[in-house]
Amino acid sequence: MGILDNKSVKYLKGIGEVRAKNLSTELNISTFRDLLNYFPTRHIDRSRFYTISELHEEMPYVQIRGQFVNFTVEGEGAKGRLKGAFSDGKRLMEVVWFSKINKLRDLYHIGVEYVLFGKPGFFNNTPQMVHPEIEKYNPEQPPEGFQGVYSLTEKMRRKGMSSRLFPVALRSLMESDAFRDLEETLPVEVINAYNLMGLRDAYREMHFPSGTDNLARARLRMKFEELFYLELNIMRFAMHRNTAIAGHFLPRVGNCFNKFYSEVLPFDLTGAQKRVLKEIRSDMVTGRQMNRLLQGDVGSGKTLVAFMTLLIGVDNGLQGSLMAPTEILASQHYETLKEWCEPLGISVKLLTGSTKVKERRIIHEGLQSGEIQILVGTHALLEEKVEFKNLGIAIIDEQHRFGVAQRARLWHKNRIPPHVLVMTATPIPRTLAMTVYGDLDVSVIDELPPGRKPIATFLRYDDNRMEINRLINIQLMEGRQIYIVYPLVRENPKLELKSVEEGFERITGLFPDVGVSMVHGQMSTEKKDREMEKFVSGENRIMVATTVIEVGVNVPNASVMIIENAERFGLSQLHQLRGRVGRGADKSYCILVTRQQIGQDTRKRWRIMTETTDGFVVSEADMKLRGPGDMEGTQQSGLAFNLRVADLAKDGQIVSLARQGAKKILESHPEFY
Ligand code: ADP
Ligand code: MG
Repeated sequence: MGILDNKSVKYLKGIGEVRAKNLSTELNISTFRDLLNYFPTRHIDRSRFYTISELHEEMPYVQIRGQFVNFTVEGEGAKGRLKGAFSDGKRLMEVVWFSKINKLRDLYHIGVEYVLFGKPGFFNNTPQMVHPEIEKYNPEQPPEGFQGVYSLTEKMRRKGMSSRLFPVALRSLMESDAFRDLEETLPVEVINAYNLMGLRDAYREMHFPSGTDNLARARLRMKFEELFYLELNIMRFAMHRNTAIAGHFLPRVGNCFNKFYSEVLPFDLTGAQKRVLKEIRSDMVTGRQMNRLLQGDVGSGKTLVAFMTLLIGVDNGLQGSLMAPTEILASQHYETLKEWCEPLGISVKLLTGSTKVKERRIIHEGLQSGEIQILVGTHALLEEKVEFKNLGIAIIDEQHRFGVAQRARLWHKNRIPPHVLVMTATPIPRTLAMTVYGDLDVSVIDELPPGRKPIATFLRYDDNRMEINRLINIQLMEGRQIYIVYPLVRENPKLELKSVEEGFERITGLFPDVGVSMVHGQMSTEKKDREMEKFVSGENRIMVATTVIEVGVNVPNASVMIIENAERFGLSQLHQLRGRVGRGADKSYCILVTRQQIGQDTRKRWRIMTETTDGFVVSEADMKLRGPGDMEGTQQSGLAFNLRVADLAKDGQIVSLARQGAKKILESHPEFY
């Protein structure tokens, strides 16, 4: 920590108290160092103006000089938009704004020379820019070289802040003593061994590149640094895990396991399930604690593997627990396990936040005496009061809802920590998993049980309602159930998005003969469970919901998943939602509904969703499009890191260099441990 970490950005040129406050609340930038680390999202070539006929969709931000020739307002209220026809003297393009229409109308004038900065897009073959940055053209201003484009929030724009604020403030920062005294953060051996740019130069080049080569070297240095420290951490973690923690030695596969396999289980295990069980069994005889991540697409049969793992514990006289992120999921698991446990004579109980006090006491006692062999529950299971006689196996379903700290709390439930198996349906490519879950071994179920039909996935535009409703009708007549997912709970005048409440009205009106359940995050748990239950039991045939239903719920009779404003969801999330259907043997459908106008990126995503139902392919693509930092599953993962510049999907080579560098340093400087 140095002066850079203490000095407020308010002292920098062009910032001051008010903007400093905005930077802090909107972008988390408070100190000099925060600002230095806020890198441009891209650089634009300010040395020239592009013509409209040069524009194409793959272009980054460009600048165009010209005049508005007219303005038109379309639509009203929340749906209103302002369009300006902008001419560079030869061709026209369209500029579109979705908010602050009246103010903007007054701000810009016809016949005045402006410079637009923005990313070109196309709509019906007409070049277009949405909410570009606009300045009056100033012929006195000398041409500049590369200029950083810094992303701002919508709120900051509305307050009149622009991306230009950053270079001004950063220039004054780089003239300060604080910056001159900035210390190097990588070991000098590493800098030399990999011929890396020094930290100060790298910062300067990141913000004000003197050329493309130097910018590339600066980026390399920044990425290397991030990955170097990440790899160091992983190595420390792995070292610690492999040496320190003793675990239960469970050599036996006994009666329960064998009886279940040969007499209770109505089908054969898939090859992948068998392989994973083998991996788990080999963990049980090492004498070390198992810490394993089980990845498998929705419907791949993870629950069964979890249960058979619990049976290994039971066969060796130990208790087991299965923890799920929601009450609904916990009770579904409980119902499943109860059925399997009964013929084996195993006692299983459910503990959630809504378990009554009396029942709770009975459970506490049963756990302490060892009478209860398997406990299913929510995070209520982590409370101090929940004490086991001898917890041997702890299973956590849908890992991404639990942090590493919560996982660690399970360990303390016993003198010898239980073997831990975390399960997730958010597949992460193997290379990434190594780094994200550096503290876990990874198993993968990459095969679905036989007889599943692939889910037919279609893209439909908002105005194709008739066709969508027809599909719903046909499926309802065949006795099936339908999910419809919305991005919002209720209407928001600022957002042009569909809401559950609005949807509920519409759907009950359109399909008056069937019951409709509504579930969203702003309901009480009780109400939510009641609505959910009605859908699970089949009493209600349609479920309108937000993404709260994303995780794990199993209604095999559901055959249609409709996702409204699908452009608002990430690929992995769409895949998760889609996984709610296709669980029975019948043909299932997933309809992604979107507004007419979609960008290039969105179109790429549709292609992936409609072409594959393989979760690993989807997640690989998601990672490439969004970067791993944004992916579900990585946010709260074991090492909870946040990469700012490096991209695990694209920077594979730098990852290996950084790993090599970290390894060398650990060998020569044991103090880094
Ligand atoms: P996941 O938790 O991985 O999403 P589940 O464990 O809920 O998947 O399994 C989905 C469905 O597939 C369940 O109804 C389950 O009984 C069934 N199933 C699991 N394994 C097999 C198998 N080997 N053969 C046939 N059906 C299976
Ligand atoms: Mg599951």
